Amino acid sequence: VLGEDGRPGATIFAEMTALAQRTGAINLGQGAPGTPADPLVAQAAIEAIQGGVNQYPPVQGNPVLLEAVQVHQQRFYGRQVATEEIVVTTGATEALFSAILALAPAGSEVVVFEPYYDSYAAAAAAAGASVRTVPLDPVGFGFDPAALEAAVSERTSVIVVNDPHNPTGKVFRREELELIVAAAQAHDAWIVTDEVYEHLVFDDLAHVPVATLPGAAERTVTISSAGKTFNVTGWKVGWAIAPAEVRAAIQSIKQYTTFVSAGPFQPAVAAGLAGDDASYAARAESLQHRRDLLLAGLARIPGLRTGVPGAGYFAIADFSEVTDLDARSIIARMAELIGIVAVPVPALCAPGSVVQEQLRGHVRFSFCQSHADMAEAAERLAGLD
Ligand code: PMP
Ligand code: GLN
Repeated sequence: VLGEDGRPGATIFAEMTALAQRTGAINLGQGAPGTPADPLVAQAAIEAIQGGVNQYPPVQGNPVLLEAVQVHQQRFYGRQVATEEIVVTTGATEALFSAILALAPAGSEVVVFEPYYDSYAAAAAAAGASVRTVPLDPVGFGFDPAALEAAVSERTSVIVVNDPHNPTGKVFRREELELIVAAAQAHDAWIVTDEVYEHLVFDDLAHVPVATLPGAAERTVTISSAGKTFNVTGWKVGWAIAPAEVRAAIQSIKQYTTFVSAGPFQPAVAAGLAGDDASYAARAESLQHRRDLLLAGLARIPGLRTGVPGAGYFAIADFSEVTDLDARSIIARMAELIGIVAVPVPALCAPGSVVQEQLRGHVRFSFCQSHADMAEAAERLAGLD
């Protein structure tokens, strides 16, 4: 959580965004969409504000959104949840922090798959817990079941599963999720799943929520948010689904941190969740098209190896056959030479880890910018020397 100077540091996303602003580069760093808010939710938010939905909603969330989350789980995953099992949060970030604070006692261990989104280690640190990692293979992003077994023990309080995964774009296979559930059961650990990219899945892949696996729901906190699904990352409306007593624990932390989450955006997100199948498909297709623009640009760099992301906002490219430079230096050069900024993957690793060294030359590119920006970025990348 603290920077090298012992002071609270800026996240790598903020740092790279600042670099893009300073240099005027296209920002393929932070996953912040360059396309407009989904019209369905935008119109519903305007109506909510004009209709007077502007004061504190209930701490647990606007009942309209609680019900929409309930219906959404049934509709997409055939999962039945009670409204007592749902709490609305200020983005997935608050849900993650509150769930980890609620479930990871000081001195316990939180297991994450590496590389990982930075919030998890920060939340574990705030809880006084330490992080244990399970390496994802740099090619293909699978994991060794023995590494999972080695990381999970009686000290484990929480296993964090980010599926679909940031930064790799990995969509966990059912068999992988089964191994994770079995490990949690064997050591009586909780599973906290971060599913914010659940509706941005490409090709023929399908998202399988961990909580739908046999025996999982009773030990799982399922977290998602509206930001990615509806192109409204600034709205910060998320939710957690957990057994009622854990939902209550998360809510009691929320009560004294944010108290409630954005009033008018809650019914707006409810309207979005109730959108027809075509609205969900159109958003994923638009993003897949931009993914393909990025991949086509990266494919024109000789020696570059790029993983094909199955979901989400990001693709990872391995520059180690192209240059000896490390990822940060590569990004500094790209900003200077072609006006593109991205994120160094080693910044999303445990400091000093084996995976961090393996991913020394790996760069994460986001493809959620506008079509015009992605097309321009692809042209510029193709011209990289
Ligand atoms: N989890 C992951 C994996 C993310 O990539 C992000 C945001 N980019 C978040 C959580 C944060 O979500 P929110 O903005 O809803 O807090
Ligand atoms: N989740 C976004 C990403 O991975 C950024 C969030 C942030 O800036 N903290 O790029």
